[in-house]
Amino acid sequence: MIEPIKVADLLKETKKTLFSFEILPPLKGKSIQSIYDGIDPLMEFNPAFINVTYHREEFIYKKREKGYLEKFSIKKRPGTVGICAAISNKYQTPSVAHLICGGFTREETENALIDLNFLGVNNVLALRGDPIKTEQYFVPEEGGNKYAVDLVKQIIQLNNGQYMEDNIENAAPTTFCIGVSGYPEKHSEAPNMKEDILRLKQKIDAGAEYIVTQMFFDNQKFFDFVNLCRANGINVPIVPGIKPIATKRQLQVLPKLFHIDLPEELTDQVESCTDNDEVKLIGEKWALKQCRELMENNVPCIHFYTMGKSNAVRNIAKELF
Ligand code: FAD
Repeated sequence: MIEPIKVADLLKETKKTLFSFEILPPLKGKSIQSIYDGIDPLMEFNPAFINVTYHREEFIYKKREKGYLEKFSIKKRPGTVGICAAISNKYQTPSVAHLICGGFTREETENALIDLNFLGVNNVLALRGDPIKTEQYFVPEEGGNKYAVDLVKQIIQLNNGQYMEDNIENAAPTTFCIGVSGYPEKHSEAPNMKEDILRLKQKIDAGAEYIVTQMFFDNQKFFDFVNLCRANGINVPIVPGIKPIATKRQLQVLPKLFHIDLPEELTDQVESCTDNDEVKLIGEKWALKQCRELMENNVPCIHFYTMGKSNAVRNIAKELF
């Protein structure tokens, strides 16, 4: 049997900065071809791995007779597990399935892991997930994992052949390689950076083997974060996440959604653009400058957030990889 490739090994062993990116499952009803159309233009840069995000259910209300409202749960972007398997098969490139705590009982998580294992997808990014729109704070499913660290521990148990039911004998251990998220500008709910780093260390101590960061637009924040991690005994590879700005609206959307700051110099440049074509050029130039400096500092990989659009990432990758 061929040994499955582990993203952590690629990151540890590489002598040069690798290229990777994240895609979103398409909106329900679209075909797998829409995924390939986003990936194809990036394959010539030889991505080391491709991440597929997970999107939990949303609740909508439909008006019924006499003004009653009926609550529906819908998943707008299902398909993470299937897309991961399709990508690995088609491109012979490792895919990384994002798994979240939100909306999953531990049993459902175990079943998703069993599916991934059978499909040969052995790289996962273990996340908590955000609160759903109607919740102010994250609420785990009853019998579900509360923090990403709990999910990491559950996956490690499967790697040790321990399933939830304790009467399964001679269970084959899984071989999941686990990545986790890190926040150069602190996670929005953490009281301070020290506490957030402590929580990050708990994920690594539990068995996660590398970190992918939230997007950032000021490299100094990433360098400070890496130094803080190292000073606190976090010694795994840390992969910076990069997103080229593409629209003026993102000046408001990105800080609100991702709790990050945009440097004044960047916002001034974007504000002075007359249309989004100009913004795209500014965004690419800024991201390219960030990547060049990160590569000079020997980061193991640069991970791009495509958000369903590969053009800008392609233009940047052409210059670097
Ligand atoms: P955790 O590591 O669990 O941390 C959440 C908060 O709780 C932090 O403030 C932390 O300091 C604190 N904390 C942790 N453990 C404890 C504890 N034991 N006691 C008290 N406090 C604790 N979301 C999706 O829904 N789908 C995706 O595909 C997705 N992909 C992502 C990819 C990357 C690279 C990143 C950076 C984020 C992604 N997210 C995704 C968003 C992520 O789910 C949210 O940022 C979420 O709010 C936190 O997830 P986490 O795994 O970092 O949580």
